[in-house]
Amino acid sequence: MEDVLHVLLPLLEVEQGIVTACNGVFTEQIGYQPQAIIGKPVASFLSHLSSEKHQPLTLKQFLAQAGRAPHGMLACAQLTDNFHYPLPVRIHCAGTRDAGRFRLCFQILENKSLDPITGLRNGWAIRCRANHVLEMANRRPVNLALIVLSVDNFSTINFRYDFDIGDLFLTVVGQKLQTLIGEKGLVVRYSNAKFGLLIEEHNGVSSSVFSERVLRLCNKLCQMGDAPIQLSADLAIHRSFSLGVSAEGICYPDYHAMEVAAEDALQDAKKVSQSNYVFAEKQIGSGIVYHKLIIDAFPQAIEQYQIQIHYQPQYALNSGRLIGLEALSRWHHAELGHIAPDVFVGIAEEIGLHFEFDLWVVQQVCRQIVAWQETRVPAPKVAINISFKTLEMSTFIARLEHILQQTQCPTPLVELEITETANAHNVSQLRENIVQARRLGLSIAVDDFGTGYSSLKLIRTFCRSLDMVKLDRTLIENICKTELDREFVHQIIALSKVLNVKVLAEGVETAAQAALLHELGCDYAQGYYYHKAMPAEEIAHLMQAMQDSAPQADLLR
Ligand code: C2E
Ligand code: CA
Ligand code: CA
Repeated sequence: MEDVLHVLLPLLEVEQGIVTACNGVFTEQIGYQPQAIIGKPVASFLSHLSSEKHQPLTLKQFLAQAGRAPHGMLACAQLTDNFHYPLPVRIHCAGTRDAGRFRLCFQILENKSLDPITGLRNGWAIRCRANHVLEMANRRPVNLALIVLSVDNFSTINFRYDFDIGDLFLTVVGQKLQTLIGEKGLVVRYSNAKFGLLIEEHNGVSSSVFSERVLRLCNKLCQMGDAPIQLSADLAIHRSFSLGVSAEGICYPDYHAMEVAAEDALQDAKKVSQSNYVFAEKQIGSGIVYHKLIIDAFPQAIEQYQIQIHYQPQYALNSGRLIGLEALSRWHHAELGHIAPDVFVGIAEEIGLHFEFDLWVVQQVCRQIVAWQETRVPAPKVAINISFKTLEMSTFIARLEHILQQTQCPTPLVELEITETANAHNVSQLRENIVQARRLGLSIAVDDFGTGYSSLKLIRTFCRSLDMVKLDRTLIENICKTELDREFVHQIIALSKVLNVKVLAEGVETAAQAALLHELGCDYAQGYYYHKAMPAEEIAHLMQAMQDSAPQADLLR
């Protein structure tokens, strides 16, 4: 029995509470090299698992009795392994020799730290280790870097060969990474073809020397992709690697912040080219923390009306008449300053508040239209940006109708601007909502036309329910400079005439652009050439001035 245990289970020899030897299984399964534990008190890495209900003895009691106890005595404990995560184990004394000397056998009850495909540690393990090191960094300075490595175009290996070859490729890459890093850090596989390398330096080297080392390592990792990876005698596969690295010389508050930073850098690396590495931004305040602050502050910003709606005028190109306004949200945060609407609208979608936010904007705009009307300001139609995700909601129309009734806002004065921002999951609901909105008397515009590959598909799908197409600013930018852009816009205008929808050009910044658009048959325009988005009071003055002055064409400077 004792021999079997010796071969199968991790085993320690203990004398007077101090480890004197361990077997190979212990090293292999638990991760400690013999030199790291021999001579150490066994209690320094083995602790009592208090959550275990059927605990026959505390660890202390167990160890105290171990030298005298009979075979097979069980106790549950927690073994903090080399990488600083707890492994629940059942320990038992495999037999006593003489007083104070005994053998402890372990049975690992659960090991959450291993990746079954490559045999490497996993994302859970790297998090435990990094958080432990970062915690230690409060007491003793330590250099730490996280490299997230992704195999470029890995999925094609699974397609071309099969999943077994894909797994083998990951295993061999894992081994290569492990060899390259050696004792300097921890190599893990997160998921799919993504690996993490946590590089540690505890010997008090300066952060610039450490950064140099990390940089050299990144070069070596990228060079790994220069030659094919040999999987067997007759199979070698060539792939490059992209790397994202946590910022140099920054002590992150926790592993999560570090991983997000390295992941962001990896996405940037992939954008540039393959076999490339990018370091994360130095100021952690810029990306992650800023993002988190906005997420935290956003719900309150809606509740407390901290977001204001500004309005950008839209004009008819032939008469100079004001034909509409676009509602654009503005948020000035007391500490964060001006937050761009595309940033917080994106966050609203991320945290599922887009529906409530878009309806909140609709309500504010409807109230404003009615307020203008009550003061006899001749309000034109107001266009409201509605997220694609909101348009898919089954209760959208009911909520919209409720707001229109509650505010008594005339429906012909409201336009919904739709942009294809995300993949639509519920196209039939979306289509139904657009048709219903139109039945209520609202008009529909397709925003940002010319960006995104499926805008054409969008107007094809909804052509019977559309009133207007808005040409994106990027299409207008160069119409006076390049023949191609001019022709492109010309063709889109022609297409809109076929579909019987009006065309509005966004981002018109010069008189020459406005004149050319008019010549090309574009109906309306909006942009800094006329006005930026303005608060409601300024719009009231503008509309009043327009009413007082005639002809209105004078407003087109
Ligand atoms: P958008 O719908 O394409 O709005 C037009 C953007 O172009 C606005 O930016 C506007 O200020 C800017 N712009 C207008 N004329 C010119 C010009 O001549 N030159 C240049 N360079 N820019 C011009 P803004 O206000 O920063 O809004 C950005 C985006 O955020 C909007 O793009 C829209 O997609 C979104 N957004 C803004 N407010 C809301 C809102 O209340 N709800 C939703 N769902 N999205 C909103
Ligand atoms: Ca818009
Ligand atoms: Ca737009």
